[in-house]
Amino acid sequence: MSGTIFTKIINREIPADIVFEDDISLAFRDINPQAPVHLLIIPKKEIATINDVEEGDRELVGHLYWVAARLAKEMGFDDDGYRVVMNCGENAGQTVFHIHLHLLAGKPLGWPPYTDRMKQG
Ligand code: 5GP
Repeated sequence: MSGTIFTKIINREIPADIVFEDDISLAFRDINPQAPVHLLIIPKKEIATINDVEEGDRELVGHLYWVAARLAKEMGFDDDGYRVVMNCGENAGQTVFHIHLHLLAGKPLGWPPYTDRMKQG
């Protein structure tokens, strides 16, 4: 059987705090939140990394951003601002190999998102 922990969440084999679902996507709260609001928005299709996104996935990837904007409006932080980010591979710290948007909100978010110590590396 293939799939990551996110496939188990899609299939309700493990619990998650789901905030949105439609036929092609699912959004739920990150188990280890890095901001007052930290959501993960994923396609139901298993795509390991951004590198694996194909031409036929263009609409699906755009859909994830539409879900982000919709949730920002519904949850009321659209005007305050928020961050949407997708990690790809080792240098970005990707740990779950099923693409996902992180949606972070609820406080001022630092930018750039790396420290001076990391810049020296
Ligand atoms: P990545 O580092 O791959 O960009 O992000 C993976 C994210 O998935 C992390 O922020 C991590 O906290 C979250 N995560 C990992 N396992 C689970 C889980 O079982 N449930 C939920 N809700 N989030 C998870």
